[in-house]
Amino acid sequence: MNKKYWSARIRDVEPYVPGEQPKDRRYIKLNTNENPYPPSKKVSQALKDVDTDALRLYPDPDCSELVEAMAKSKGIRPGQVFVGNGSDEVLAFCYLAFMDDETPAIFPDITYSFYPVYAAFFGNNTRIVPVNEDFTIPVEELKKNDGTVVLTNPNAPTGIALPTETIEEILRANPDHLVIVDEAYVDFGGESVVGLIDRYDNLLVVQTFSKSRSLAGMRIGFAFGNENLIAGLGAVKNSINSYTLDRMALAAAKAAVEDQAYTDDTCNRIAKTREKTGGKLQALGFSVLPSKTNFLFVTHETAPAALLFKKLRERGVLVRYFNKPRIDNFLRITVGTEEEMEILVNTLKEILEETYA
Ligand code: PMP
Repeated sequence: MNKKYWSARIRDVEPYVPGEQPKDRRYIKLNTNENPYPPSKKVSQALKDVDTDALRLYPDPDCSELVEAMAKSKGIRPGQVFVGNGSDEVLAFCYLAFMDDETPAIFPDITYSFYPVYAAFFGNNTRIVPVNEDFTIPVEELKKNDGTVVLTNPNAPTGIALPTETIEEILRANPDHLVIVDEAYVDFGGESVVGLIDRYDNLLVVQTFSKSRSLAGMRIGFAFGNENLIAGLGAVKNSINSYTLDRMALAAAKAAVEDQAYTDDTCNRIAKTREKTGGKLQALGFSVLPSKTNFLFVTHETAPAALLFKKLRERGVLVRYFNKPRIDNFLRITVGTEEEMEILVNTLKEILEETYA
């Protein structure tokens, strides 16, 4: 590749690689933690009701109606809500707003693999904390008050959740630094700390509608924190792109906020399917990490993960394999519908029988 016209900033960056969105055939798609259920019917109706004539006009740069609906649903003030084009964008803005040379990003080695990419791209220093042997977070390492802590809770790709008391310990131990809690998967069984933003001025919570609200295709993300933090994110946004959410996304997001019952219902279904599938995978010889998310992180006692990934793919089942130190013998499997998980389990059973007969 000829990078002659590339900036120095981008020339040496190793970008994040998103999970595959294959076009070659139909797969049972369990590789990017999407929701197997469609969005709420209220979302479909809201999209039908969008006035297409109004698309000639820019959308509301402050996302006011959505912000108000979200603030109401969380019991917080509108000034404590930030909206972005997916939580990836919100996280990128966080790096620009709250991290620099003197304020490194501090995060575990096994976590959302976008965190080191942002740090490299924006030129931030990092302190990377190795997770324990059992993939739990070494909490003491995040209590050093030496930079912005970025923590996915429940963690990805492990699925392991920390309780609220532990997050509070980390917040109290970092009085001079921000703690960003990425709650992308919290609705599937974790404990959200949004309710603590009035108590801790160093807490910023990031959430997404891509998982529990079945709206990955619309790109809707949030941050919740005190007004000063939200203003910092606003300053970044208005230095890059003021209109991050379009009129369709704003309408869909507002309708999704207003149908909490549907979210609760689909999240409960997914959590039940997760537990059932975990048990079946254990019966096939897999170790399954305790997940509070919409995915399972598993390793098999004999079959290498890379081989299982390949053989599943050949049979039309797509899961996620990370060829990275410490986790290169694990598969991350998104929890789909009951039927999809039955196919996954049966396909794995076939593969194991054929390979190890
Ligand atoms: N945080 C974590 C931990 C994730 O796994 C993801 C999804 N890849 C995101 C943030 C970003 O989600 P989105 O940009 O779709 O809101």
